[in-house]
Amino acid sequence: MRSVAILGATGSIGEQTLDVIAAHPELRVVGLAARSDHAGLVAAAAAHGVDTIALEDPAAAAEARRAFSGTVLEGAGGVVELAAGGDADVVLNAIVGAAGLAASLATLAAGRDLALANKETLVAGGDLVMAAARASRGRLLPVDSEHSALAQCIGGVSAEQVEGLVITASGGPFREWPRERIERATRQQALAHPTWSMGDKITVDSATLMNKGLEVIEAHHLFGLGYDRIEVVVHPQSIVHGMARMRDGALIAHAGLPDMRVPISWALTYPDRAPLAATRLDLSAPLSLEFEPPDLERFPCLALARRAGEAGGVAACALNAANEVAVESFLADAIGFVRIPAVVERVVDAVGAEPVESLDHLLATDQRARALAAEAIGVAA
Ligand code: NAD
Ligand code: MG
Repeated sequence: MRSVAILGATGSIGEQTLDVIAAHPELRVVGLAARSDHAGLVAAAAAHGVDTIALEDPAAAAEARRAFSGTVLEGAGGVVELAAGGDADVVLNAIVGAAGLAASLATLAAGRDLALANKETLVAGGDLVMAAARASRGRLLPVDSEHSALAQCIGGVSAEQVEGLVITASGGPFREWPRERIERATRQQALAHPTWSMGDKITVDSATLMNKGLEVIEAHHLFGLGYDRIEVVVHPQSIVHGMARMRDGALIAHAGLPDMRVPISWALTYPDRAPLAATRLDLSAPLSLEFEPPDLERFPCLALARRAGEAGGVAACALNAANEVAVESFLADAIGFVRIPAVVERVVDAVGAEPVESLDHLLATDQRARALAAEAIGVAA
């Protein structure tokens, strides 16, 4: 039996994690955390027999206490306590944004396995997080589908046998749109992802290709390869999730229909593989797989992220924070789609790439980048 705590339990990944656990007799949920959806969190706790929950928003925690007889932790500290205290064997972090970083570090410091969907943890704090993972008894298990695929492609082979990694991208809803049309893209159009159903922030990141940029940085930290050895290829069918190039020329690919329950299940039951009732890829009918290079001119966020990753230090932390603010503003109809890369570029250039000294230094950089992004957009931070 493995005990699981889920952070971001009311979101897209959180709910799919609850589905995976409900279908697996060897997994049980022992803690749930979310930002402010107290009704959703209390309902999930009741449905899964969980007696400890955490809400980041204190007002939501007060509401939850009226309806829930178990323990209700509150604030960012309460979310960290839920991750690091209690008796979870594995913490699945599906918080959105750099808000997930502190809980990831606390999970590793407590010696628990960290099943990581929250890619912003590695983008903002990659060096610190990988050092914490090396020092921890707990394992760092990727949930992001491409990184789960890559971990499985690489298997147990030593790093020097791996020549490079290939991350696939669906290309998002604007893959075939000319630049002039992308300039007028609306919130609704950006939220219409062709192959995956996900939370709003990552869906917009998929439309700008920032998501792939964040994933290149994530892969660099997880697998310890230089940026020049991490490729991105657009693959509109989202069936091949990742590929590893071996030094003998073999290209090992991981394939399956797009379904996040597969990487979630892999991370929760590793090194085992649990049965999962996911739809199988039907190879009895004709199937075409296409691959094409990404267009860096129509989708500048991909190159911006790669450049910030290569610059090192606090640059990727600033990139991530500026992107979070810009995407939120786009979702609030305060800026147009193409302002997202413009805001991010300006903030990354202003913040620079000084070496990371500590978590506090990262958090201060995150705040500074958010303030600069808000200033660039013309809204209050
Ligand atoms: P979502 O918006 O659907 O859900 C986010 C969850 O995080 C919610 O439960 C929310 O309450 C919680 N949350 C937000 N801020 C919080 C805070 N400060 N403290 C505690 N909880 C907080 O997002 P999602 O699509 O499930 O994505 C979650 C993470 O997983 C993101 O980092 C995303 O990039 C990554 N991811 C998602 C998918 C996907 O298919 N959805 C795939 C790969 C990776
Ligand atoms: Mg992904």
